[in-house]
Amino acid sequence: MSHYKKATFLLSAAEVKQLPPDMGYEVAIVGRSNAGKSSVLNCITQNNKLARVSKTPGRTQQINIFVLDEDRRLMDLPGYGFAHVPLREKRKWEATINKYFEQRTCLKGLVLVMDIRHPFRDLDMNMLDYCLHHELPVHILLNKADKLSKGAAKAVLLDAVPILEEYGPQVTLQTFSAMKKTGVKELQTVLDKWYGYNS
Ligand code: GDP
Repeated sequence: MSHYKKATFLLSAAEVKQLPPDMGYEVAIVGRSNAGKSSVLNCITQNNKLARVSKTPGRTQQINIFVLDEDRRLMDLPGYGFAHVPLREKRKWEATINKYFEQRTCLKGLVLVMDIRHPFRDLDMNMLDYCLHHELPVHILLNKADKLSKGAAKAVLLDAVPILEEYGPQVTLQTFSAMKKTGVKELQTVLDKWYGYNS
């Protein structure tokens, strides 16, 4: 993941209008709170300190932007499903994401992080529908695979087959462990394609 190792924090944006110009390639990462989004980000970039910024109080509702090079950015979208978030905050989150998906032509794909023990919850399904509505490819990471036996992890993959069939080839899925760093190569292949590294 040598390209990804170069990632540096650029800024946190509360509004879409604060984002850098809509050029080059952007990949966004999203997921329910606690699914392991920050751990995945740190794993991709091999930098354990990188995503700490997204945990800074007050920045949880913001888009944290990491730069790989002048054309490529990794966007850490605000997590969803936090307990006890006021409705007003939720609406604001929806409005920001809405605008981001609608306006950002450089957005090439979305990494959707789920906890393999609790996959495809309602809010995850909403996010999937939403991405498909915007014709965005989604790569699902069933994270924390180390918490399950190989057989149990395989069963989750099998259970997901009908869901994937319904969504078509725009949605792909793999098991992952940010802790054990398993599945990193498979993820890299998807990211490389979206970022145009091999073309
Ligand atoms: P976020 O809220 O989605 O950014 O989640 P974090 O990255 O902060 O992770 C939430 C919790 O899950 C932390 O305690 C992590 O250490 C743990 N975690 C994240 N990824 C993994 C994983 O692959 N395996 C295990 N066992 N724990 C993980």
